Amino acid sequence: MEHGPRAAAARVLRADADGLAAAVAALDAGELIGLPTETVYGLAGDAFAPATVAAIFAAKARPADNPLIVHLAAAEQLSRVTQHVTPLARALAAAHWPGPLTLVVSAADSVPTITRAGLSSVAVRVPDHPVATAVLTRCRSPLAAPSANRSGRPSPTTAMDVVTEFGSELALVLDGGPCVIGVESTVVDARGSRPIVLREGGVTREQLGVAADEAGGELERSPGTRYRHYAPRCRIEIAPTGQLDVEVARAVTTGVHLGVLVHRDRAEQLPTTATVIDTFTDAPDLARRLYTGFREAERAGVELLLVEAVAEEGVGRAVMDRLRRAAGVA
Ligand code: AMP
Ligand code: MG
Repeated sequence: MEHGPRAAAARVLRADADGLAAAVAALDAGELIGLPTETVYGLAGDAFAPATVAAIFAAKARPADNPLIVHLAAAEQLSRVTQHVTPLARALAAAHWPGPLTLVVSAADSVPTITRAGLSSVAVRVPDHPVATAVLTRCRSPLAAPSANRSGRPSPTTAMDVVTEFGSELALVLDGGPCVIGVESTVVDARGSRPIVLREGGVTREQLGVAADEAGGELERSPGTRYRHYAPRCRIEIAPTGQLDVEVARAVTTGVHLGVLVHRDRAEQLPTTATVIDTFTDAPDLARRLYTGFREAERAGVELLLVEAVAEEGVGRAVMDRLRRAAGVA
């Protein structure tokens, strides 16, 4: 059942009946596992067990004031985490769950303080991934599942990425294949009468019907968006399409080991001194390839990764948000 080059370091299990049973047993025993979702792989544990949640914060070295997202099997379980489901939350859940949308709702007392970092609200979502759903429907509690990376590092989008981050620290990692969205969920405050976007993500503003210039000021952002994030060990720079040639030429003259992540149509025109880490066709494709591109750049020993910008529309907003944070310019 175990596979992968580092199977001795961590148990990577196929999500078959045995794998699911092992995952559920580990979670019900308060252990941590690597869990695939449609956004990124999560570091999952019982959201209602304070000691388990403390272990998640410790493993990630996550600041204690950055609350976790609680994952449910279905919207019907909302009453486990909140007593006040606003009409807005109900409507957003009906429209986008299961899916990459996280709703901030007022927290029931049953949600441990550590899970919500002391806030009176809690973030909650229903993931759209057959493996996550199978696990969530079988285990005792809702799961806290932040991305399975050390704080500040790129999020994992394959089971092997989780192994690279945590080795044998986790009870096991369920392999659900590469993530189809590739960036984190959109976080929306759903306590009022209108949605307030706290973090861009897999569900777009167009889908939510929220204008780009509406709300989202610094004060209204999620606690977690204060921190530098998503960064690999190499430097990241963003190049608008029209400036790609100039930026590549400039980097090449400095003699830096340059990697590029560019649109497929541009890759062949670049100087051969630039290592093409990966190419993409559109913003959703870049979303899927962004974090694997960061990790591949590390493996290739690249010093500077130049990423071609995409338009700030659709999932392109989330991609550009993550890119700016990784580049340290957000
Ligand atoms: P992550 O699990 O690392 O993808 O991050 C979860 C995101 O949701 C972070 O930006 C958190 O700050 C945000 N978040 C979690 N709980 C809350 C909450 N109660 N209110 C506002 N934002 C939250
Ligand atoms: Mg994260």
